[in-house]
Amino acid sequence: MSARAITKGLRIRLDRTLCDGFGVCAKHAPDYFSLDDWGYASLVGDGTVPEKDRDAVMRALMDCPVHAIIYMGEHRPSEDGVPHPEAHEAPEPDPNSDGNEAVWGFVR
Ligand code: SF4
Repeated sequence: MSARAITKGLRIRLDRTLCDGFGVCAKHAPDYFSLDDWGYASLVGDGTVPEKDRDAVMRALMDCPVHAIIYMGEHRPSEDGVPHPEAHEAPEPDPNSDGNEAVWGFVR
């Protein structure tokens, strides 16, 4: 009888608009975060983190002073190799589009 691993790691995302260039992430998990000349981080790879690197990446996530590293859930590759469908956000309506002409044209 053999036990099968339930999770294959985790997935993360880096919000570069929040990053303030403290460099903590690259210190903890240099394989997943690279810093530019000003110390701002970029994610190395696609955000998939195997189980063996979980601790280092979670330490980076928790020590980021501005919470720019976001936990996206556990990584569970599907058996058939087809990626899991992600929730799709509806596109925001563009307030400047021609579709709003009637609103802007309403002048007394
Ligand atoms: S620890 Fe956070 S703020 Fe610092 S470089 Fe990494 S992502 Fe940016």
